[in-house]
Amino acid sequence: MADNHSVKKDSSKKPHQEVDGSPPSALSPQPSLSRPSAHSPCSQRTRFVLVRPSHPGNIGAAARAIRTMGFSRLVLVQPQHFPDSEATALAAGADDVLDRAVVVPDLVSAIADCELVLGCTARRRGVALAEFTPRAAAARVLTVAPAAEVAIVFGNERTGLENDELMRCHAAVHIPSDPTFSSLNLAQAVQVLAYELRMAQLAGSAEAAPAVPARSDPPATAEQLEYFFAHLAQTLDDIDFHKGRSPRTILQRLRRLFLRNELDQREVRILRGIFDDAQRMARLAAERRVGLGPPSS
Ligand code: SAH
Repeated sequence: MADNHSVKKDSSKKPHQEVDGSPPSALSPQPSLSRPSAHSPCSQRTRFVLVRPSHPGNIGAAARAIRTMGFSRLVLVQPQHFPDSEATALAAGADDVLDRAVVVPDLVSAIADCELVLGCTARRRGVALAEFTPRAAAARVLTVAPAAEVAIVFGNERTGLENDELMRCHAAVHIPSDPTFSSLNLAQAVQVLAYELRMAQLAGSAEAAPAVPARSDPPATAEQLEYFFAHLAQTLDDIDFHKGRSPRTILQRLRRLFLRNELDQREVRILRGIFDDAQRMARLAAERRVGLGPPSS
């Protein structure tokens, strides 16, 4: 549920002035290394994605949460109400973030160009995904964000992220809350992640993060990986890998395997070349079986 339902929707007053009487600084403060702003590479490359948020107040509070931590990119997947005066009220002056928020119809569009997608979840959902703490996630983001697009994805207030949405993420992030009461308010979860990202930036923790070997090819984007997984699924069908069993579990495991290994674009091309050949061989074999193809040599 959205917090602070009692907040007055007085749009004539800039809500941020409540604190110290001064308006929030514009999005163009002096960037400095010690105080990363919305201009730091990590901030510019990182988007916060809210999937089907129900309460506009949470959208506003999430905008405020990321803005205070030096971020500015909010993507909304099918928000129930947006724009909305309650979102504006709870943004408490982070109007620039709301103004620039991008609304998209589905998660795939929200993350298509991302090379790292992290899905925040209050509980395990039987989806076999690597799981990070927010701190480890932040360190990981810092190794990627200077050069590539990153998405941190949050679910609906009531239902969280669906399994198929989590499956589109490279890893899950779980805030290690009390297991008997594990679900934070959406905007508060956004705050925790944004805070850890800021702390990681302040500490320059890119150096402390596990070394990632230099790559000659860029990592595959989420969109390229989705085409890859669709091709993989089709190939497994074509070669009759499942033999009547349900493909679901094996496809989930294979997704996990490939996502864990963070394929680059060349690796995806090679694997898809192999799939093409496997499909071609399966077609030839089928043609031979029905006597349409040339005799085997
Ligand atoms: N009832 C839902 C919780 C939704 S809370 C469920 O059990 O999944 C809304 C969103 O906030 C979640 O989808 C998740 O993205 C984030 N969130 C809440 N608590 C979290 C936690 N402990 N760790 C990581 N993300 C959390």
